[in-house]
Amino acid sequence: MVTDGGQPRGLSTRCVHAGEALDAQGGIHAPLYNHSTFGFQSTADLLDVVEGRKEGNLYTRYGLNPTIRSVERRLADLENGEDAYAFSSGMAAEAATFLAYLKTGDHVVCIGDVYGGTFDLLGTNLPGLGIETTFLLANEADRVASALTDRTKMVFFETPTNPTLDVIDIAAVAEAAKAAGALTVVDNTFATPVNQNPLDLGADLVVHSATKYLGGHSDLTGGAVIGSKRLLEPIWTWRKNLGQMMAPEVAFLLSRSIRTLVVRVRAQNSTATQVAEFLASHPRVRRVNYPGLGGGSEVARRQMRDFGGMLSFVYDGGATETAAVVDRLRIFSIAASLGGVESLATQPITTTHHGMAVEERARRGIVDGMVRLSCGLEDASDLIDDLAQALS
Ligand code: PLP
Repeated sequence: MVTDGGQPRGLSTRCVHAGEALDAQGGIHAPLYNHSTFGFQSTADLLDVVEGRKEGNLYTRYGLNPTIRSVERRLADLENGEDAYAFSSGMAAEAATFLAYLKTGDHVVCIGDVYGGTFDLLGTNLPGLGIETTFLLANEADRVASALTDRTKMVFFETPTNPTLDVIDIAAVAEAAKAAGALTVVDNTFATPVNQNPLDLGADLVVHSATKYLGGHSDLTGGAVIGSKRLLEPIWTWRKNLGQMMAPEVAFLLSRSIRTLVVRVRAQNSTATQVAEFLASHPRVRRVNYPGLGGGSEVARRQMRDFGGMLSFVYDGGATETAAVVDRLRIFSIAASLGGVESLATQPITTTHHGMAVEERARRGIVDGMVRLSCGLEDASDLIDDLAQALS
């Protein structure tokens, strides 16, 4: 659908139509097939699908279900990938990707701040399997080449990062990783395909927590991995055998949500820019982290079309005073997660980075006074008024 008969299609059109086959009953979009299994006319027909000669519907845990394949084709199209696999959560997508490409003795380089669950998986679970990770700070990304060893199989990062919103140069990291024979895997959850396409910049695989912007309404949990068919194949086996499939109802809901992705994210980009500018001028705010502030850095402008709906700021106070600011908010809800239509606020030390050692948080600049905001679809002026009253 990136092109249709040679005719290039815009992202909004692709969000609405990509991956959909017309419903046999004339329904205007792909229906929900909740079925766990699918029947065949003959054993020969069944074997064609089982042995990979024909694409077909077979068994939902395998992902061979039309509702799931429909959303996967749409996700692949939006990230300019050859194919995509949908998962029961973002963590399931990451875990299958790690397990497919890492074995005992292998090494990973993880750059910048990543979601706490990812940090835990790489730092706690995978070492138990003999897989080691070197964690570089975002401002050490230019040293990635020296962190790569002959055991390094993967470089993993988010950009913008969570919660400090640092921007990592995807093309530069991918070039260094490729030279060392390592895969580059980028978590594009924060940016979304509306603002950034890592595969176009040299990344090998893109992962998403579809729970966030792709779902967009805080009412589904899902994940995805997107890339070439060749690189996705080993991930498919892990998903199948670990039973990490996205449920068909969720795939249907996700398809529904992606239709409005562009309008939602563009509004969120604009609101976050206005909120960041307001906070940057506030006397009680020590620092604002937003990739688009002041027009954005050279790297941010080069790799992002716009700067996203997430930002964080550091309040001029300690943990308790900052919690009081958060508690005074009336429109922002106090909640983990992000990317939905409702604006959310969280102090990272109480949620996403609660489990991280205090020294590690300090090394990463995740201070007690930090508040992370996910800007939703409310009026920007109402959100700014809400922050003004909470900070006063
Ligand atoms: N990646 C990022 C950037 C996240 O913020 C999260 C969750 O907050 C995840 C991955 C994990 O996603 P999920 O909660 O869908 O497993």
